[in-house]
Amino acid sequence: MHDGDILRRFVFERFPVRGHLVHLDASWRALIEHHPYPEAIRTVLGEGVAATMLLAATVKFEGRLTLQVEGPGPMHLMVVQATHQMAVRGVARWTGEAPPGEAGIGALVGEGRMFVTVESEDRQSRYQGVVPLMGEGLAACFEAYFQQSEQLPTRLWLVATPQRAAGLLLQRLPSGATASAAEIEHSAEAGDEDWNRIVHLASTLTADELAGLPAEELLHRLFHEEDLRLFDPAPVYFQCACSRDRVSGILRSLGEVEVREILAERGEVEVRCEFCNRAWQYDAVDVTALFAPGEPAAGSRALQ
Ligand SMILES: [Zn+2]
Repeated sequence: MHDGDILRRFVFERFPVRGHLVHLDASWRALIEHHPYPEAIRTVLGEGVAATMLLAATVKFEGRLTLQVEGPGPMHLMVVQATHQMAVRGVARWTGEAPPGEAGIGALVGEGRMFVTVESEDRQSRYQGVVPLMGEGLAACFEAYFQQSEQLPTRLWLVATPQRAAGLLLQRLPSGATASAAEIEHSAEAGDEDWNRIVHLASTLTADELAGLPAEELLHRLFHEEDLRLFDPAPVYFQCACSRDRVSGILRSLGEVEVREILAERGEVEVRCEFCNRAWQYDAVDVTALFAPGEPAAGSRALQ
């Protein structure tokens, strides 16, 4: 079976520990296709994408989940967004020279913070959590986030190459966890011993294995002595949420005077989506229609 762009959920049958494994291939390559990221930034963005998908898989939400990392830089901003249907998009911004090669998030972002926002489709409900960035890497930041927001011991392993972004998550659920009763029939308590053994086994995973092995082979390699139940794969894919409607909303919020100034200066108005690099063009006729009476007023639409 084709192994790319999938999320695999699994549970341990004899104690309440669950896991998710994500592989992003074509979706990851599409996400970086139009962006000439320096290697170090591309790697951290890929880890951020994998971690965001793992987080989206464990949190119950309908709408979108946004990871935002901010700091002094050189990489001063990274945004990754996932929908509950596992569509993902993301972008990183930097200034000046990015540190070469293997620089981790600490060297790239500096003393920054990581925000996780979960919003419903209509944006009526919103939850935000924030943790300080840690020099040890993005996985450690996510582990701190899980500890803070869900009070669940969680471990993550992340890797990104130009071809694939991948991640493994293990989470220790409360004993007799009702949320997962349907998944776990024998919800005996996960003792420290079980949890520590599982984490220890997962820690033997190399970056090459996480990036290279098919899901089933990888899980077999780690946990072949455990009772593991592996669920059917769910697809993940790259999809940008930009649309002409949304861009029109942004232009309306800028106001007619400013948009007409741009039009006069350049002959047309072009808005380029920073996630997918798609260009949205508006000529004089489009701009007139944009501000025609009867069109929704500025601010009445959700802005991206
Ligand atoms: Zn877009």
